[in-house]
Amino acid sequence: MFVDRCFWHGCPRHFVWPRDSGEKIQGNINRDRKNDGLLTEEGWTVLRIWKHELKDDLQQVVERMRLSTEQSPTAGMRKKHQIKWGRV
Ligand SMILES: [Zn+2]
Repeated sequence: MFVDRCFWHGCPRHFVWPRDSGEKIQGNINRDRKNDGLLTEEGWTVLRIWKHELKDDLQQVVERMRLSTEQSPTAGMRKKHQIKWGRV
């Protein structure tokens, strides 16, 4: 599971495209998508949560985590919940 900071990862609610560092942010987003694909192939459930969601709606975030571990197609093959914590 990753917590993305609103600004650097292009949060749809808070993100305003900056004039000078747009390339850097696009690079972050592209890297995120690429990592998602790699992790999914390895059997991870990739769940991305915006930083503002932790603040605004923690209950809903917890619910999404629960659902994603239950509904993951690989869940039955794994002994433990596979939530990978990452920092950005
Ligand atoms: Zn946000």
